[in-house]
Amino acid sequence: MKIFVAGGAGYIGSICVELLLDEGHEVIVFDNLTEGHRSAVDERAAFIGGDLLRREEIGGALRETRPDAVMHFAASALVGESMENPSKYFRNNVCAGINLLDGMLAAGVPRLVFSSTCATFGPPERIPIDETLPQRPINPYGESKLIFEKVLRWYGEIHGLLFVALRYFNAAGATDKFGEDHRCETHLIPNVLKVALGQKPQVEIYGTDYETPDGTCIRDYIHILDLARAHILALEAEQSAFYNLGTGGGSSVREVIDACRRVSGHEIPVMEKPRRAGDPPRLIAASEKIKRELGWRPQFENLHAIIESAWRWHQQFPSGYGD
Ligand code: UDP
Repeated sequence: MKIFVAGGAGYIGSICVELLLDEGHEVIVFDNLTEGHRSAVDERAAFIGGDLLRREEIGGALRETRPDAVMHFAASALVGESMENPSKYFRNNVCAGINLLDGMLAAGVPRLVFSSTCATFGPPERIPIDETLPQRPINPYGESKLIFEKVLRWYGEIHGLLFVALRYFNAAGATDKFGEDHRCETHLIPNVLKVALGQKPQVEIYGTDYETPDGTCIRDYIHILDLARAHILALEAEQSAFYNLGTGGGSSVREVIDACRRVSGHEIPVMEKPRRAGDPPRLIAASEKIKRELGWRPQFENLHAIIESAWRWHQQFPSGYGD
């Protein structure tokens, strides 16, 4: 298939592009490179520099390329930042996405795979989080993604757009070529590994008084290649659907730091800090629906293997993509 990947120069997008190409698909990456990196785009993919907020740019790119499907990774994705700058989140995650959908309709592109998030749920009534639980986000990031899920449902109903929305839990890990390099790094695993690399003196733990066994937040870390595989399966889906995507296991911040110590062999000093605004205490996925309906099976089920792959990449590219 010919796949148009919006946000294909970012962390998750770049690895999906690599897997799509490995599986024999033709790929066009569309990215404004504000968060992504040109060198994170696989050489085998075509690249179009453009901005989803400019309707004519995205509309023109879709008309010219006429793909079979679009994957939409382009978004702002930091919980903490969204609590300070909600406007950026609603603009980039809702308005820009609508430009993409309208461009798809105009160009006759029938299918979308959308990067949604467990942050659409907020603190859940029960764990693990399945698709039947109510969605009550507690930060503008989660709210913006939930709004776009609702937009998708209406575009499906009114225009016949076929979509699969994948609600990621915490993406982590790397392939040999591509990994996690944000210009402003807020995510736990890369920050811990930067300490192991000697680039930062210590890692900060945001909150040690949560109602969890060790007082720190629990997340479901899923390997990026397992996420990417779910996207490939979603290309074949016969019906529109929303799927939660995680391993079903949870690790606390302290457990992640301990695993990074074991994998890297470095001490990794920590500093305990107050809670970060907008963080739910515990997010763990129930992914039975995507296993049942699309036949998805995660191949990396333990945190150690996920962190090993990230550590390999960070050692090989200590300055990330260098831009
Ligand atoms: N976290 C932390 N120190 C850091 C970065 C993150 O304690 O330097 C915590 C954060 O508060 C959250 C968990 O680690 O409880 C995962 O955060 P991350 O930003 O990686 O992903 P999120 O769950 O926010 O998408």
